[in-house]
Amino acid sequence: MKITAVETEILEEPVKHQYVWRKGLPGSGTHSISTKVMIRTDEGVTGEAYAPRGAIMVDLIDRRLRGILIGQDPLLKEHLWREVWEIDRIEELPLYALGTVDIALWDLTAKLAGLPLYKVIGGARNRIPAYASTVTFRDTAEFLDVADQCLDYGFRAIKLHAWGDPRKDAQLGQDLRAHVGPDVALMYDGSAGFDLIDAIYVGRALAEAGFFWYEEPMREFNIDAYRRLAKAVDIPLLSAETSDGAHYNVADFIAFDAAHMVRTSTHYKGGITGGLRVAHLAESFNMRAEVHGGGPANLALACAIPNTTWYESLIYSNPIEVEAGIGRDGAISPPNVPGIGWDVPQ
Ligand SMILES: [Mg+2]
Repeated sequence: MKITAVETEILEEPVKHQYVWRKGLPGSGTHSISTKVMIRTDEGVTGEAYAPRGAIMVDLIDRRLRGILIGQDPLLKEHLWREVWEIDRIEELPLYALGTVDIALWDLTAKLAGLPLYKVIGGARNRIPAYASTVTFRDTAEFLDVADQCLDYGFRAIKLHAWGDPRKDAQLGQDLRAHVGPDVALMYDGSAGFDLIDAIYVGRALAEAGFFWYEEPMREFNIDAYRRLAKAVDIPLLSAETSDGAHYNVADFIAFDAAHMVRTSTHYKGGITGGLRVAHLAESFNMRAEVHGGGPANLALACAIPNTTWYESLIYSNPIEVEAGIGRDGAISPPNVPGIGWDVPQ
């Protein structure tokens, strides 16, 4: 079998519920732009993936990636993953571009096998609990209102993306715990907004409030800062979400005591191949690799590996609108179709 064509299509659509993240971080804007990538073969099977940006992905496919794919056997995924890695050395690819081709090739592989992807790459479970991952709401009252709606729906775990103000965010964590009681799993995502001293302050408050994890409070360039943070706070750190270098980099977060749990994902860790490597690396240290972000590819990864706890599902609005496929038990199953199942209505 040979790859005969690599096609791209830019998809642009209005954002249904516009939202913001912490202070300083760009929010949704008015339109979302993504690129659909289709890898076609001489046997008629097509693999598909989506990259979360537009013109930049089309440019990379046109100038660099199509050329290494045409004429190749699409099932030699390790080989092609390394070819993309070589392009990264020249281009310093955006993290999602490192994985887009690999995701499409795995979609194609699972379609050939006639199986849902999660069964091809591991098959740890066919249903996984989701956590409600908030955007940043106006004030504490609105966060508590949204939390109530999430719990009423059936979620048993909530993660905050808050304002990026250390005092206010720490207080919000404690107010939310007081509001929901001890039995709801709570997490906090700093979206890399703090320096070390503010990260320590927030981490201590979240530890007091019994939060399950403390995610990415600082940019992940300096591993030593995370090592110092881990020594200073008594809460599990979830690290290495946006750091470059896939499993090579996650290995250093683990080796230098800068993580208690690590992030894996299909879009920031080099597709399915890289996401699995990170998960298996973490498992060898008895660590969880929590899957970052939603969508069918990440859902397949989360259901393929044993050492992850939840699927991340974003809550963009108040009143809340729950992602299709999440049941009243707060859990979700991957589509039961060959491949990733991009277009399967839940
Ligand atoms: Mg995050």
